[in-house]
Amino acid sequence: MKKSVSVSLEGVSKVFKNTKGKADVVAVHASDFTVNPGELVSLLGPSGCGKTTTLRMIAGFELPTTGKILIGAEDVTMLPPNARDTATVFQSYGLFPHLTVKENVAYGLNYGKSGKYGKSGKPQKLPKSDIAEKVRETLALVGLSELHDRAPGQLSGGQQQRVALARSLIVEPAVLLLDEPLSNLDALLREQMRVEIRRIQKNLGITAVYVTHDRVEAMSLSDRVIVMRDGKIEQIGSPQSIYEDPVSQFVAGFVGKVAFFPVEDLEKQDGAWNCRLGRRTLRVHRFASDLEVGKPGLVMARPESLRLVEPGLGYIDGTVHLNVYLGHSIETFVETVYGEILIQVDDPASKQLFPEGTAVSIDFSLDRIRLLRG
Ligand code: ATP
Repeated sequence: MKKSVSVSLEGVSKVFKNTKGKADVVAVHASDFTVNPGELVSLLGPSGCGKTTTLRMIAGFELPTTGKILIGAEDVTMLPPNARDTATVFQSYGLFPHLTVKENVAYGLNYGKSGKYGKSGKPQKLPKSDIAEKVRETLALVGLSELHDRAPGQLSGGQQQRVALARSLIVEPAVLLLDEPLSNLDALLREQMRVEIRRIQKNLGITAVYVTHDRVEAMSLSDRVIVMRDGKIEQIGSPQSIYEDPVSQFVAGFVGKVAFFPVEDLEKQDGAWNCRLGRRTLRVHRFASDLEVGKPGLVMARPESLRLVEPGLGYIDGTVHLNVYLGHSIETFVETVYGEILIQVDDPASKQLFPEGTAVSIDFSLDRIRLLRG
């Protein structure tokens, strides 16, 4: 197995110069981050935030306007894609319809990066027996051994994406780049393939960068997630930290269901913040670093950090509007002066339930809520 390498971006930006009198597009603003050896990092954000452009710069399909890209210790900023030790899996599988599965997978070795170059600088072909052995190994890795003689047209979407993955992995790249690889699959297959990609990436210990706008995909696959917005990095952290401790309202809302409550008169006391929510004072122990005394704030609460109690006993009164039964939990939508608030009731069989139309009050799990800048 190859030694894992890091990928680093230092002050990398990309401006698309638009001709025909149109404004330039700053797709990526001075990005700095390092993907550690063997780590899978996702770039997550809404459409147009610069995820794909960032990935394409790492792959060498786009040149940065400013900054440096390093793979391991090597500065690859100006190298063409085929001179970088990377392989990219795209959303569209890009398989050759007239070649079989094994021929598609072998293609990378035959014509792409065999890892060896002749005197002319052209990639050298590997001996046929080596190719056959590598194809067998790689197809086994992605669970496609049985289907090696099929044509891509005879495969399901998930199987086709496995072929594309195998074609990238066969060249044993130091860095695997994945651009929304599961977008064309249905929900169930996406879930299966997500686990599969993670398993393969971990087994190989390969460094990977994964582009997605799907928060569940990013959270479940990644060691760390980079949340992007308008070409800028908003936050880099583990799935748990971006979910539990987002730095901004944008990140909080993008990575999961959440309710926000505006609060006033922020006051710092003994390492926690006090604030006024309606008639009551709230003491919050988890908070963003950019709060200011006397200024407004925003309390964020995930659905599982809210509890329903009898009217008058919690912080916010309301009326149950809708109960949605999900088996392991119930989602209750409560109408309040702050709008409709979602509360997740886990293990509903053991809890007091409030039928639709009932007056209730919402209580916070004070150790779970977080205070953000208002
Ligand atoms: P999506 O999830 O929709 O793929 P994204 O986050 O990957 O979006 P990018 O494709 O990186 O976003 O695009 C970032 C910005 O750069 C967008 O405003 C896009 O329109 C613009 N852009 C991308 N490629 C070009 C190009 N070749 N010329 C001009 N503008 C471009």
